[in-house]
Amino acid sequence: MKYNETPSQATGYLRQALPLMVRNNVPPNPLNYALWYTYVSNRIPALNAALDSALTTYGTCPNLLSEKLFADHLLDGEGSANNEALAGLLRLTGNLHSQAHEAAEHTDNYANVLRESLDALQESRKAPGSSLPLESIIDNLASNTAAINQSTARFQQQIDAAQQEIEKLREELTKTRQDARVDVLTGLYNRRVFDTELNQLIELQLPAGFALILIDVDHFKQFNDTYGHLMGDKVLQYVGRLLNDECAEPLIPVRYGGEEFAILAPGSALDSARQVAEKLRQRVEAIRIRQKSSGTVISSITASFGVAAFTDGDSATSLIEKADKALYQAKEDGRNRVAVQTQATD
Ligand code: GH3
Ligand code: MG
Ligand code: MG
Repeated sequence: MKYNETPSQATGYLRQALPLMVRNNVPPNPLNYALWYTYVSNRIPALNAALDSALTTYGTCPNLLSEKLFADHLLDGEGSANNEALAGLLRLTGNLHSQAHEAAEHTDNYANVLRESLDALQESRKAPGSSLPLESIIDNLASNTAAINQSTARFQQQIDAAQQEIEKLREELTKTRQDARVDVLTGLYNRRVFDTELNQLIELQLPAGFALILIDVDHFKQFNDTYGHLMGDKVLQYVGRLLNDECAEPLIPVRYGGEEFAILAPGSALDSARQVAEKLRQRVEAIRIRQKSSGTVISSITASFGVAAFTDGDSATSLIEKADKALYQAKEDGRNRVAVQTQATD
């Protein structure tokens, strides 16, 4: 994203952006400033629509959403860290190419030396005394052999160094791509994000409130024991994808840990959160696990859901306890069901 405004245009945008951020309780940090500067300059309609919808839902733009909008609308491609690593990789392949070229030239030369030596040997057999003495032919061969050995060893070193460098760059690339907030197995946000978002939702005191859904896959230990941990991982991945697909904004699905997931539902009252949970319960129940080779169905899974709504006086811990209690009830009642917290914990 390029900004070509004149100083006075830019100052004008600044004058509009700052009060907007203050009014909507948006921390005026550089990331948010870029977002709201772009907002008032009206250059990306999709960004404006997303920010407007955030204001309607939350009365502000929560940090997580701001970061996402920044990445989606204002960042170029994969980011500069990756571009640098990529440039490094290209340089390296270029160097290797010229080294390989040099080594090939040495081998060509050596082949010539061998041919010449053979000619000289045949000459000396035909007319002894008239051509090069045997020692000098062998001498020449020996020194050329040493030279090509050195050149091959140098090339080998270069390849080893390049391999190490490529490995290092590969790690860097994975690191820059790997977001510390995303669970590697399922691609959902992790528990850390859950904690931050939950606290932020509590602080925001949304007029419409919010709800929490806790999800726990049923009898998953038994599933692992029967089909193996790898198959278990695949199921968790699948459930993660399903939650991601089904939970549209403003729902925030996360991997809570192990075979447990959670959904934060800003603006949802208890009953609408229960409906979300019920729909997901049916989707999980419909999952069929098939044998890869034959395609035959070998198993299915279910999950239990505990739903609780934030009420005055709740803390993060008490809300989680309420949802957890409901989840426990769902398990007690036979699993594969949604239970709703009806009263506060004592
Ligand atoms: P319940 O219906 O009462 O929840 O029974 P459960 O077997 O699901 O519950 P339990 O807490 O006894 O076991 C949870 C299992 O989930 C045990 C553990 O090996 C498995 N699990 C946790 N995280 C992972 C994971 O990342 N991958 C796999 N494959 N299994 C996991
Ligand atoms: Mg569990
Ligand atoms: Mg379980």
